This record gives sequence, C-alpha cells and structure tokens, in this order.
Amino acid sequence: MTDDKAPELLRATANKKLGQHFLFDPDILKRVALAGGPVDGADVIEIGPGPGGLTRALLDNGVRKLVCVEMDDRFAEALLSWPEASQRRLAVHKGDATAIDWPAFIDEHGLGQNIKIVANLPYNVGTPLFVGWLNQMSLFGTMSLMFQKEVAQRICAKPGSNHYGRLAVLSYAVIEPRMAFTLPPGAFKPPPKVASAVVSAKPLAEDKAYPHLDALQTVTAAAFGQRRKMLRASLKQIMTQGTTTEQLLESVSIDPTRRAETLSQQEFRDLTTAWKAL
Ligand code: SAM
Repeated sequence: MTDDKAPELLRATANKKLGQHFLFDPDILKRVALAGGPVDGADVIEIGPGPGGLTRALLDNGVRKLVCVEMDDRFAEALLSWPEASQRRLAVHKGDATAIDWPAFIDEHGLGQNIKIVANLPYNVGTPLFVGWLNQMSLFGTMSLMFQKEVAQRICAKPGSNHYGRLAVLSYAVIEPRMAFTLPPGAFKPPPKVASAVVSAKPLAEDKAYPHLDALQTVTAAAFGQRRKMLRASLKQIMTQGTTTEQLLESVSIDPTRRAETLSQQEFRDLTTAWKAL
C-alpha cells in the first residue's frame, strides 16, 4: 500500500465482522514480523494479511515462501498482483482459515519444515485457530501472533494468577509462550476497543511436550469449567464407573479439595495420564 490516503480509506471501509483492525507503522510491523526471531529463509503462513503491511515486512525480511490466508476478496486479489506472487514467493489462499486442513495445505503449497506462523489475528477466530495449531504442533515452528491483550495474558499465565486457566495449561503442554510486546488500540486503524499483545511461542522439544493433548483438553474443560468448585466435584462429569474422583486425585498426590487454578502444568499432566489410564 503506497498511497498515503490508503490507511484512511481502509479505516472507513473496514469490515468489523472480519475483525479488521490494520497496522501501517513500518516499525511496528517489523517488530511483529521478527517477534519470534529472524525469518530469513523461512517458510511462513500468515493469516489475514489484509492490506499487506505485515506481508510486506515478512517478504522484506527474507522469507523464502509466504502463504497468506485471507477471507476478504478485496485484499486477496490485491496481493495476487504483487511481484512476489508472480515470482511464486507469495501465494494467497482465499477462504476461511478456520476451515483449513493444515497437513493438506502445507503439502499443497510445498512448505518445508519448521513453518512459522505470523499473524495479526482476527480477534473473533484467534483462539480457535491457536488451539487448532497447538493440537498439530509437530507441523509448525515458531509462532508470532497478535491477540487481544487479555487472550495473550491467558496464554502466558502461570498457576495462581487471575488469567491462569485452560488456555495456559494447553499452551505450556506443547509450546513455550512469551509475551513479546503490547500495543495500544491507537496503533490500529480503525482502533479496536481493547489493547493487543504479541505472543511469540517456540514448540517444546518432543521429549518435553505432553503427548495426550486430547485428553488434557477433556480434563481441563471439566476442571476449569466449574473453576470455583473443588476438583473432587468438578471432575465427576468425566469419571467412568469404578473409580471416584478422590481415588484418581490421590493416585497422583493431588488433594481432592484443591481447585483447578492451583494445579501446576506437571500436576495437570500427571492427572491426565492417570485419568486416561482408567
Ligand atoms: N494483517 C493485517 C494487518 O496487520 O494490518 C490485517 C489484520 S486484521 C486484524 C485481520 C485480517 O484477517 C483481516 O484482513 C480479515 O479480513 C482477515 N480474516 C478475518 N477472519 C478470517 C478468517 N476466518 N480466515 C482468514 N482471514 C480472516
């Protein structure tokens, strides 16, 4: 976007339903692009390129191949006219990122190992997309993702903090997340109602990652679904006949009167492994 009036025009025509809040400051865009480390020579997936500020920063910082997913045809078409698209360094997939089958997508676009995901995510689908990626982390490398600040805090939260919950437990099971930086609403056009933050995340090594994310999702949904209840009560809904919640919890040395937000990552792993074995 080279026309100086373009940001104002886009602000006026932004589609709220698609979570369109755009970034135009080249310094900020470079920080987002490099929040997870250098991208030189990397294969990158960007969700929601919009007018292409982050797309440009990624290409200018040496990405080998960039595949963008965009639902708004106005932006998808415009990107296809960039020189990098005819040079096949840039590909554009028109459609809904939440509907993508990632292994097939990676195959179709000829992407290699350690694929980075970099995005200023549309707020309405940011969390489901992120949880979907956590479930398939073996496909991906570093992620640098802009969320609403509150979601970023929930991803990076530690036990006992106000933001600690299911999202943090699932995240720390497979990645090492870090709050890279925050941005005020005024950094975007049009400004969103709340602050935003970039989370950068490295996948955990295979021997450090927890392999049963499906089961961890079931256990954490029950535990945090009724977070004010003691675990001996909140876990009842996922028990099979024959074992009580007290027996399950005591088998992994967790006091049944504790509440979900006090359990560490390791305790959740131990609890899930024991529950899975019932
Ligand atoms: N990357 C641009 C930037 O930083 O200025 C735009 C970010 S804007 C927050 C989110 C973008 O995601 C919009 O361009 C919007 O059209 C697109 N989008 C919204 N929902 C989407 C979905 N489900 N799949 C793919 N793109 C989507």
